Amino acid sequence: MTPEEAERKMQFLYALRSRGVTDARVLGAMERIDRGPFVRGLFAERAYEDMPLPIACGQTISQPSIVGLMTQALKISPRDKVLEVGTGSGYQAAILSLLARRVYTVDRHARLVREARVIFDELGLTNIMSLTADGCFGLPEQAPFDRILVTAAAEDPPGPLLAQLKPGGIMVLPVGQSDAVQHLIRVTRTEAGFEYDELRPVRFVPLVEGVARET
Ligand code: SAH
Repeated sequence: MTPEEAERKMQFLYALRSRGVTDARVLGAMERIDRGPFVRGLFAERAYEDMPLPIACGQTISQPSIVGLMTQALKISPRDKVLEVGTGSGYQAAILSLLARRVYTVDRHARLVREARVIFDELGLTNIMSLTADGCFGLPEQAPFDRILVTAAAEDPPGPLLAQLKPGGIMVLPVGQSDAVQHLIRVTRTEAGFEYDELRPVRFVPLVEGVARET
């Protein structure tokens, strides 16, 4: 690592901590996964800023501190099987893969899934299974999941995702209308039903039904 790279990494981790990402395992995973390869083209040089950035298919890679806060809110343990809806660049899935036993990640854009898979292979992240699918329906073949993370905003938590959460399981997702106020919420499945916590206001691209046609 050059002195510039080391300095950049320190700044990056400092920004995460100052925005409330304090979990040592989450910080460790975010230290290990370089955001650079997940941001392409014009915006590549801004990969280490705490900002969301545009990626292919009109989507965005989330702001690193939000990735950290969502990951922290999931309270993942090393034996967990995790579903991520909204692969996008693959950055979030890569971080999850260091914390969980297995990560299933789905996106409605086949191109994003293909490009993310190349990076997962390059990084040797062999516990990530990526698929092109409509995540509104979850992934019934692999359900139930210990943890579910949705990185696109729905009006309400989709029923199939609630149904695919194990008892004791946790789902974190943004809810609200796409252009209006959205809130990050955490849903915990208990023996008796579901408990909801509101975490913070956020802004995500919308969860859109159906697999996208290739352009
Ligand atoms: N987690 C990503 C950010 C994703 S942006 C990252 O780390 O880069 C949200 C993603 O959700 C977009 O790529 C979008 O295509 C995807 N998406 C929206 N609706 C979806 C749906 N119904 N099923 C699967 N993916 C969906």
